[in-house]
Amino acid sequence: MTAGGVRVRRRTKRDGMALDPDSLGGSTVHNISLSVYDSCPSMDLSLSEYREYCEHRLSILKWLDNQDYTIPATKMAEKLKECDLFYNDVKDQVSHFMLIMGFCKDGEKREWLIRLERKLFELRWELASRNQRNMVRAQILSAEDNKKTVGNITSLNKEQCIQAGLSGKFPLPLFLPNATGPNEHRNLPVHKVPFSEVPDLVAHCSVYIQNGYAYVPDNRFKSVISGKYRAQLGKRAAKAAANLNKLSKGPGRRLISIIKQIGSLTRGPVFSGENSENILRSKDIPTAKAHFPPCMRQMESAFQRDKHLKHKGRLTYGKFLKGCGMTCDDQIEYYRGTFTKKMAGEKFNKEYKYGIRHHYGMEGNKKNYSPNGCESIISEAPGAGEYHGCPFRSFDKRNLTKLLRSLRINDHAMKPMLERAENGHFNLACRDYFAAINKGAMIKKKKMIDDIESTWSHPNNFYNASVLVHKADEEEGGTPMDTTS
Ligand code: SF4
Repeated sequence: MTAGGVRVRRRTKRDGMALDPDSLGGSTVHNISLSVYDSCPSMDLSLSEYREYCEHRLSILKWLDNQDYTIPATKMAEKLKECDLFYNDVKDQVSHFMLIMGFCKDGEKREWLIRLERKLFELRWELASRNQRNMVRAQILSAEDNKKTVGNITSLNKEQCIQAGLSGKFPLPLFLPNATGPNEHRNLPVHKVPFSEVPDLVAHCSVYIQNGYAYVPDNRFKSVISGKYRAQLGKRAAKAAANLNKLSKGPGRRLISIIKQIGSLTRGPVFSGENSENILRSKDIPTAKAHFPPCMRQMESAFQRDKHLKHKGRLTYGKFLKGCGMTCDDQIEYYRGTFTKKMAGEKFNKEYKYGIRHHYGMEGNKKNYSPNGCESIISEAPGAGEYHGCPFRSFDKRNLTKLLRSLRINDHAMKPMLERAENGHFNLACRDYFAAINKGAMIKKKKMIDDIESTWSHPNNFYNASVLVHKADEEEGGTPMDTTS
């Protein structure tokens, strides 16, 4: 130990360290570092330095949380220059690992961190040089878990694209054999990737698809890399959560107070219409509800049956729909369309419209409220005629059985859910429900429930994960989910 600091010896190249902290940055126009953090740095730092790096990284992530993906590169570079975190590999890596440790124990915060770290990675990818990208690409694709997929990704140059008949196939441009077309440098090489690896690009028609492969232009290849990066982050966070207690037994115990404080330095994950991974339109709810978790399924069916929801139900369900990407106007219309089957439009406008606009941050204190996570929903005790709780918690065995049967869960799959609910493991019961309801799509994708990227602690996480599983399934010709209940 040093006075006021934790002494960790800086490794030298002779130690055989895979990643030299000083070797990554410094070679680009923006001079920014880009890393997949595949090894932990080793050096002397004071506790105040640890704290400072964490605060800087958190401030960038919070800022990013309010930005969309169309941030101009110059604006991004300017923002990152406000602190030298991303121009210094040691600070970058230390702050990354500290935040992972700080958030790994809390599902909602961990998911928030991973989403924002992925976004940060993608934006830095845009600023990085081709050499840096190649290096990161090699690191990501050569990771143990990706060995199977490396062989499935090939890169085609212009001649190979023309030979393969890809020239001009939308969205690829026409490649001219003897001339350089506009934006050619941005599209080449074209990467041939198993189509299930790029659900987001497929969903947005950003790739040409043939025989189960997506042909990804080079300027969109970051989506493949960042998807794998995200998966690695999830595993890293899970490992950190499992091993965090060991820290208290060594010299690293002095970091524990900072790690504990990290959680309170941020407001945690925020789902909103703007940062949803999917856009939900009210007219799609009859089919999209198949992706809802049981709490929101029961809310939707009560809403349609009673043509009404009480205050807490309206708020909880409304914020959930917002987190699925529904706009404020669309939600007003959706509520109006159902409420006015039993009441006059004027009454709806007078008594209910304000509440919807309020949680979108358009009235009153102008605060855009976040959708509730499982923790707060589970803690609710709905009264008579209310449906805003977690059915695994608030329903007795008989009613839970009835609900799960109505959601097409067979008795065999239901048994462990009922046991988990009975033992107070509501999130795990919900995870079992996800596995049962999405069984067909997951088998088709050769995925186990452990492969699904969700913390099982937020209804919007559940929804996004379900949409993702089925997006790929439907693209492969699978049958849509049953929405008849
Ligand atoms: Fe909803 Fe969470 Fe309960 Fe699942 S565990 S039903 S997502 S509150």
